[in-house]
Amino acid sequence: MHTTIIIGGGVAGLGAAYKIRRAADAGHDVDFLLVEKSDRLGGKLATDHITSDLGESFVVDGGSDSFLTDKTAVHRVARLLGIIDDEVSTCDENKKTLIVKNGRLVELPDGIMMFAPTKILPMATTRLYSWPAKFRMALDLVLPRKKIEPGERNEESLESLVVRRLGQEALDRLAEPLVGGVNGSDPAQMSLAATYPMLLDMEQAHGSLVRGFLAQRKKVEEIKKKYPAKPGARRRTFFTSFSSGMQHLTDCMADAAGRERIRTGVGATAISRREDGMWEVTLSDATVLEGNAVIVATEVWAAAALIGSVDARTADILDTIPSTSSATVALAFSRADCPFDLGWHGILSPRIEKQPVTGVSLVSSKWPDRAAEDTVLLRAFVGGPHNRDVLERSDDDLVETVRGGLSRLLGMAKEATPLFSRVYRWDRGMPQYTLGHLDRVEEIETRMAGIDGFALAGGGLRGVGVPNCLESGEHAVSKVLEDAGITLEEDAVKEQRVY
Ligand SMILES: Cc1cc2nc3c(=O)[nH]c(=O)nc-3n(C[C@H](O)[C@H](O)[C@H](O)COP(=O)(O)OP(=O)(O)OC[C@H]3O[C@@H](n4cnc5c(N)ncnc54)[C@H](O)[C@@H]3O)c2cc1C
Repeated sequence: MHTTIIIGGGVAGLGAAYKIRRAADAGHDVDFLLVEKSDRLGGKLATDHITSDLGESFVVDGGSDSFLTDKTAVHRVARLLGIIDDEVSTCDENKKTLIVKNGRLVELPDGIMMFAPTKILPMATTRLYSWPAKFRMALDLVLPRKKIEPGERNEESLESLVVRRLGQEALDRLAEPLVGGVNGSDPAQMSLAATYPMLLDMEQAHGSLVRGFLAQRKKVEEIKKKYPAKPGARRRTFFTSFSSGMQHLTDCMADAAGRERIRTGVGATAISRREDGMWEVTLSDATVLEGNAVIVATEVWAAAALIGSVDARTADILDTIPSTSSATVALAFSRADCPFDLGWHGILSPRIEKQPVTGVSLVSSKWPDRAAEDTVLLRAFVGGPHNRDVLERSDDDLVETVRGGLSRLLGMAKEATPLFSRVYRWDRGMPQYTLGHLDRVEEIETRMAGIDGFALAGGGLRGVGVPNCLESGEHAVSKVLEDAGITLEEDAVKEQRVY
């Protein structure tokens, strides 16, 4: 029997465990043991089912609340688990995005793709940008493309690319809160090669970001025309979630993998390899687990602290990958206390607005079934790379900070009492892919390839999104089993990309 010890019970670790269970079911003599240091499985997938004092029910995601629909890994695993019908699209009737400008809300103009304008009239009339900024953005159509030497990696920060092509205001008003904000990243440090390489490719292929996005839109429209949705087929939107929250995915993977093989509330404290090639993992309760392989699927900083004894150089590289902290604050109000337009999904607050709340998601508008009737469920984001101090406040202070921000922005009555509030803190929860990240990852991967029966997984390396993390756990399993001469069959279920 080949046993893999998996450290970390987030989506990556559980994705690894579930893959090993499928391999065992397919007849391979393999097994796993998973340890998770907190009392709850799921990591950044953390759903609460909350009932207010008035008996109203809410589904609240404290961490990740959805995933990108066009990435197939979660759909594939959901199909294998038999929970594909639990996936939910967003309610896109209300999908406006609002941006804070000088303390007031401005609607994101139609035709903006990511942060690049693709329609003339909405750009001409929007209050989001000044006239000089609009003209500056138009220069993208004529500016020469960046020269890349043959063999050179095309690497640039988000800030550098956006300012170079579209101007400073395009960065400050939209690219920073949208792209930097979602990734909890500082645009001046954020590596596009590691996060959005398609933006760099677009410039090379089309000589312009605007032309690149226009070409992308045309391609998607052609694909949609060529493969029209089958009658009665599920309508897909840009983001997908699960009706009972994202933790449903990790809960179902844990059930299917076998909870009897999983221990929570106990962390790994050391990893070592014996002379006979077996691995040992020491736990915080002094137990020593023995296995043929180890997968470390923790946060990147936790992995750095654990693996020095396995490979000191990799631990040093992992130590250079920074992570930012943030908190989400969920609040629900009675509909009567919310005398504002509810036809939007999100508010972005650019850094230049200097607000403690960097974003707000109107959950009850995105997924109406998550909030009781006649209530409004909101989720606010605080923290991130430029707003660390705010996280030093107590939970009560954070709730007050958010309430104050919402009342200023939306005109909500100051005395409106939340039906409930909950604060979720994510200490060093978002790894940062800074300039040079891919070089670091490649070096790590080369080193890992040389260590039999050992692999890393999780959001620290090749993608922070839930589907990427899930796949990283699966790849880690393929790697350690191949090291032992076990080749796995592909899953019987295949998922098409959805546009
Ligand atoms: C606030 C927030 C919102 C997000 N929103 C989205 C979103 O909407 N869509 C999206 O795609 N992505 C989102 N992400 C990113 C995504 O959720 C994460 O990148 C992903 O879930 C990480 O999964 P993971 O398994 O790699 O790590 P984690 O979920 O961090 O799991 C690692 C686990 O390892 C455990 N651990 C650590 N050290 C040890 C040890 N020594 N022994 C045992 N266990 C240990 C930890 O307790 C943790 O449970 C969000 C992230 C955050 C923080």
